[in-house]
Amino acid sequence: MNQKPIPTYSYRRGFFWLFIFFVLALIPLFIGYGWNLPDYRGFWEELGLSMGFVGLGLFAVQFLFSGRIRQVAPAFGVDNIVQFHKEMGVIALLFGMAHPVILIAVDSSYWGFFDPRVNLPRALALGAASVGMMLLLVTSLWRSLVGLSYEWWRLLHGLLGSLILFVGIVHALQVGHYLNDWLKMLLFGGYLGGFLYLFVHSRVVRPFQNSKHPYAIDEVIPEKDDCYTLRLKPCTGERLHYEPGQFLWITIQSSPFSMQQHPFSFSSSPLEPLIAITAKRLGDFTRDWIHLKPGQTAFIEGPYGSFTLKDRPCFLVMGGIGVTPAISILKTLAIRQDTRRCILIYGNESWNKIPFRQELAELERLLHLQIVHVLQEPDQAWQGERGLIDERLIGKNLPEDTHAFDYFICGPEPMMDVAERTLRNQGIPWKQIYAERFDLA
Ligand SMILES: Cc1cc2nc3c(=O)[nH]c(=O)nc-3n(C[C@H](O)[C@H](O)[C@H](O)COP(=O)(O)OP(=O)(O)OC[C@H]3O[C@@H](n4cnc5c(N)ncnc54)[C@H](O)[C@@H]3O)c2cc1C
Repeated sequence: MNQKPIPTYSYRRGFFWLFIFFVLALIPLFIGYGWNLPDYRGFWEELGLSMGFVGLGLFAVQFLFSGRIRQVAPAFGVDNIVQFHKEMGVIALLFGMAHPVILIAVDSSYWGFFDPRVNLPRALALGAASVGMMLLLVTSLWRSLVGLSYEWWRLLHGLLGSLILFVGIVHALQVGHYLNDWLKMLLFGGYLGGFLYLFVHSRVVRPFQNSKHPYAIDEVIPEKDDCYTLRLKPCTGERLHYEPGQFLWITIQSSPFSMQQHPFSFSSSPLEPLIAITAKRLGDFTRDWIHLKPGQTAFIEGPYGSFTLKDRPCFLVMGGIGVTPAISILKTLAIRQDTRRCILIYGNESWNKIPFRQELAELERLLHLQIVHVLQEPDQAWQGERGLIDERLIGKNLPEDTHAFDYFICGPEPMMDVAERTLRNQGIPWKQIYAERFDLA
């Protein structure tokens, strides 16, 4: 069965999903204040209480992101979704923290909720959730500064998030001030419980489903600049369908439940029989690729992402190993004998460290493709572009008919920032700019 093509970005789809997001986030408030209202307690107390409902609703909807919902990516792109998740997550936590702060400021008897002498389990749960909110905030905003590895951060992020949501649901039901009839309680608990299930689904149910479709490593190919390509074939059944430029999540030599699940763009074309991914040796996961052997098992999940080939000519700004999605796109064009115009600005340290250098030369021969190599530390004989990819260099290589192209950017953060800014300054509509950041956290 073929996958449906990924649609282009559009305002209509974007606004539709934003509307859905805020409606979903406000549903707990609607349930609380919808009917059967208790006596009014004054502005500040009501504000403090509604902060709790809104905070919990906003927080629950963040679980849509842990569920890796594929339908949302084409509206915004994975990068923007991750950014949105970060910002809305912080806002949800601030609402959640404001809830007890305002209530205690209005009436100090609310301290009783945290008093172990009044109710030990309740005080422990609310205390843990409050500390959890602060930990979540600190580790989400400053993961690298606090020296947390990505794997531990991901585990902690999921566990803290689930704990806070669970305690929030139980707390609201126990207080029962607004949730004062069985229908409200049922709707509230069932609705928010559904978001908790999304976490269980993405961390337990989906890996279990993936465990039934293992892949085997077919070949490990060393590339330039300490990069390795893994070719993967399905052990049973059909190979995963994907679009050129998308990415997958993979665990290798362990179970699909492993904490070591990492995202990689396809470096193969979907029109090739095997799946390929290529990584630069970096940390504890990619460092071991050099020792992998054919026949070893891998579990993959996907495809994800909207960084995909559309109908227009392509202008690609890539840096280092960020070239992988471009390789998938260009290989696909070559296999399809599609001669649309493509321009690739490709930054690397030196000529000998250009991943896929030979393949790119071959693709340049087969396609209507112009490659501009930009070297940071070229040798003296180098006649081409040197330094970093910057505004001047991108501007110089832009086609005359800028609006006819789709723009793809993938590489180191500073390069991506400069490329995005330059293209926007040149008046290219955001809907034609696709960016893939390899650093999700
Ligand atoms: C959509 C996407 C596509 C990617 N495609 C490629 C690719 O084609 N080739 C390539 O070399 N790299 C790619 N990456 C980056 C790759 O996922 C990380 O470099 C890899 O996970 C590093 O793991 P490590 O343990 O070897 O290194 P570490 O030193 O542990 O990690 C280095 C950095 O990579 C990031 N990272 C680590 N683990 C994960 C994880 N599980 N999920 C997300 N980010 C993580 C963190 O920011 C971390 O600081 C992609 C990332 C994303 C988000």
